[in-house]
Amino acid sequence: MKYNISNIIDLLNKTSNNIIIITHDNPDGDAIGSVLTMYNILLKKQFNSINIVLTSNYSNKFDWMPNINKVLILNHYNYIKICKKILKANIIFCLDFSNTTRIHKIEQVFLRSRGIKIVIDHHNDVNIKYDFLYHNNLSSSTTELLYDFIHKLNFEKLMDINIRNCLYTGILTDSNSFQFTPSKHKIFQIAYELVKSGVNNNYIYDKIYHFNNYSIIEFFGYCFYKKTHFIKNDNNFLICIISISKEEIIRYNIINDETKFIINYPLYINNVKLSLLLIEQSNIRTKISIRSKRNVDCNQIAKKYFNGGGHKNASGGYINMQLDDSFILCKKIFSDIRSCII
Ligand code: 5GP
Ligand code: MN
Repeated sequence: MKYNISNIIDLLNKTSNNIIIITHDNPDGDAIGSVLTMYNILLKKQFNSINIVLTSNYSNKFDWMPNINKVLILNHYNYIKICKKILKANIIFCLDFSNTTRIHKIEQVFLRSRGIKIVIDHHNDVNIKYDFLYHNNLSSSTTELLYDFIHKLNFEKLMDINIRNCLYTGILTDSNSFQFTPSKHKIFQIAYELVKSGVNNNYIYDKIYHFNNYSIIEFFGYCFYKKTHFIKNDNNFLICIISISKEEIIRYNIINDETKFIINYPLYINNVKLSLLLIEQSNIRTKISIRSKRNVDCNQIAKKYFNGGGHKNASGGYINMQLDDSFILCKKIFSDIRSCII
């Protein structure tokens, strides 16, 4: 059944149980901020047995966030138990993704579940068969959308400081500290309202960006010294590719999401317009993250070559090959990407 907003208001004003909240693999600040916002709202509505399921671990920089210790992180041992919960769910919130490839580890069980699927997202590659979709790809983040959604539900009185902190974290991180602002002034208006009502923006900035320990700096040094390759493009700009194996991630004790910080640095170089990060996921799968400067559209690149998508200056996808072959493929592709310059 397709629900409209008033059906959803009715649904969420009746206390229900067996709720699952999920987000995309390798959760970032927007993913974590979104699931915790929803979790904390539902707790206030007296919902029972609410479970947040993460398909991979989160970075320690989110340790301070309210109720983060309640999340279930999928692993080899709890896989069956979590699948049963998903199958039994009455409502499943899908936050910060709308394409099932982004939850590939639980994709099949998710598709079989009959729970009401409420999708809130700002990506433009929707493939989920949803019951309710709250979507705008001109939002900086899912948390920006959730801020509106909470108002549409008339739940704004439930927004305590914990929930506001979760919302602010998502907006801050997905906009890359207010650099990517597709919703123009709206993001600033929401940030203003959150800060005015008590969010300590400096505290959150420190938690997120001044969090790193020495091992990540060592890891960055290693990557820049040993693992960085530049390709000169026909358009006379440089493309940077960094590829990282599973073994290196383990050796430097890095959580997946933390590796992503590195991708922004090559863009500090004036004639680098594209930065790519390849991360080995398995013998047959490599994750790719793509970042670009303003007029280079990485969303098109991700869609065309990497089964992915995203936003104009920040996208991602995957390659069904092992790391070294993926690297060779990228070198080939990126010797000519004329069509993606707009
Ligand atoms: P990241 O590089 O941080 O994993 O992803 C950046 C953005 O790219 C995400 O916010 C999302 O919009 C998009 N993205 C990343 N991976 C995928 C993917 O596998 N499929 C799709 N459709 N989009 C992705
Ligand atoms: Mn997001």
